[in-house]
Amino acid sequence: MDNKVSLTVQNRLIIFGLLLSTVLIIAIAIFAIFNIQKKLNEGYQNFGQVLSKTLAIESVEITKNLPENKIKETLKTHSDSILKSHNDIVFIEFRDKNGDIIYSGKNELAATNKTNIRVTSPLTAIGDTNPIGSVTVGMSGSIISQISSTTRASLLFVFSVAWLVFAFVILINTYLITRELRILQNGVKKISTGEFGYKIQTKDVSSEIEELFNAFNDMSTRLHIYEEQNIDRIMLERNKFESVLMSIANGVVVCDDNDNVVLVNNHAQTLLEVSENQLLNTKIQEYIDTSGNECFKDKIEQFKDTPLEIIEKKPIEFNINVDTRVIKSIISPMFTRNKDYVGYIIVLIDMTKEAEMEQMRAGFISNVSHELRTPVTVLRSYIDTLYNYGNEFDYETQKEFIGTINQEIIRLNRMVNDILDFSRLEANTELEKEPNNIEHLIEECAKQVDVLTKEHNLKITIEKQSTPPEFLFNYDSIERALTNYLSNAIKYSPENGEIKISLNYSPDKNEVEVAVTDQGCGISLEHQKKIFDRFYRVENNTHTIKGTGLGLNLVKTTIEKHHYGRVFVHSEPGQGSTFGFILPTVVKEECEVS
Ligand code: ADP
Repeated sequence: MDNKVSLTVQNRLIIFGLLLSTVLIIAIAIFAIFNIQKKLNEGYQNFGQVLSKTLAIESVEITKNLPENKIKETLKTHSDSILKSHNDIVFIEFRDKNGDIIYSGKNELAATNKTNIRVTSPLTAIGDTNPIGSVTVGMSGSIISQISSTTRASLLFVFSVAWLVFAFVILINTYLITRELRILQNGVKKISTGEFGYKIQTKDVSSEIEELFNAFNDMSTRLHIYEEQNIDRIMLERNKFESVLMSIANGVVVCDDNDNVVLVNNHAQTLLEVSENQLLNTKIQEYIDTSGNECFKDKIEQFKDTPLEIIEKKPIEFNINVDTRVIKSIISPMFTRNKDYVGYIIVLIDMTKEAEMEQMRAGFISNVSHELRTPVTVLRSYIDTLYNYGNEFDYETQKEFIGTINQEIIRLNRMVNDILDFSRLEANTELEKEPNNIEHLIEECAKQVDVLTKEHNLKITIEKQSTPPEFLFNYDSIERALTNYLSNAIKYSPENGEIKISLNYSPDKNEVEVAVTDQGCGISLEHQKKIFDRFYRVENNTHTIKGTGLGLNLVKTTIEKHHYGRVFVHSEPGQGSTFGFILPTVVKEECEVS
């Protein structure tokens, strides 16, 4: 736009210059023509006077001694010869001293009859002061007008040529100046569009302009260097920012103030199950989850309806479900340093585990209450029966009753212990460890569950590959861990089944492996992965036995957290299971309770 204005001014100046020069040249030409015309007229006038005077003198001379009748003839002959020789003389008239015409001759060859100049001179004899008559010469002035028009035409031609040359020079000059300006303008345009480093050619330009061009090229080079440095810095900043965003553990989706997605990090792509290309530059409201719902739409509308100062302090939080995942989404506004609103950020947090835990916790509470109520109800009814009607039963029946009461108390005790152990083991207090004999511990545990195995007609065998030395461990907690494995094996074993406890010592690895193998219902691979999780229970048609889901987690905590060992499970549905743990016999000093 500025260019247009400057060009217009330039054009105006050129036009103004040309007009001014035209007016000046015309004025000078008119002035010159006028002056020449004036001088010509004056000269012509003088010529007329000289002519009439000469004619007067000649006429007096040639007629002075002639008789009266010859005078007219002589004057006629003389004037005719003059008239013939000058086309410009229209007539010659002789008068006597009374003013009467002696002779009047007209020029037949005159270019025009129009008389512009009349010059009269007295006819006076030499030495006499009294005139004897007068002679009048009439001149057309056609020579003057011819000379004038020729002069005018010549001058006009000369001035027109001069004007044309002048105009040509101005235009050429203007073109040459504007050519350089155009080159510079082109260069500036390139710079303004970001083409830093663009250079303009300095050849064929004037020295002053060359200096200007050199300065321009210098500026362009500097801008280029600055841009490169700047780009490097910006790229570095951007890369830093991107890597932070990309490696952040939560999903991040950034939208501009038109709801267009401008950034999606890797985790968000995984959580929303879309690729970056599918989401970038689309409206986030149009995202459809795996159930076919536009899960962000309503919440984004709510976000937009809420004033920014409120939403800034209290971002909108809601859960969405994508596939089996529960994703907590938080929408918060995005501002520049100057507090200008530029869009919003959606942070996505995978809450699947937490949601599962919550579900499990709820299941645990109901299971625990159920599990506690069952033995208590059984105990109450048995004790009540014995207390009120004990005398009516024989010794064997009473013994059987007390046996059941004992079993229920063991179950109750185990459950209460599990819950107590759970809170104890979860705390970071270190368990006291002493050198103990693991073989002895295994035998003790087998004895403890003897009543239960007999009840279910199960056979327990202990298989020992090699005898391990005594090593440091907390006897009670390892005993409870093994009892847990055993009671599970008993719970899930079929009648008349066999349970095998194996002990394996690897002196080269300094490890002791204890495993319990049953012939029970087994566990699918999917459940095996989660079976050691807190509160996790397999609940299906096969696993109908109630429990708290704490037992295996307690084993894991005891072995891994407090004894730096490992737990494992090998199982196949319908084929039985092997649950085991590996304990280090030599504990490195740096291993501490974390
Ligand atoms: P619970 O006290 O509820 O039995 P556990 O943590 O001891 O809790 O066990 C978790 C789940 O593992 C149980 O719900 C059960 O389905 C499964 N489980 C444990 N041991 C066995 C086993 N030996 N055979 C089959 N399933 C088992």
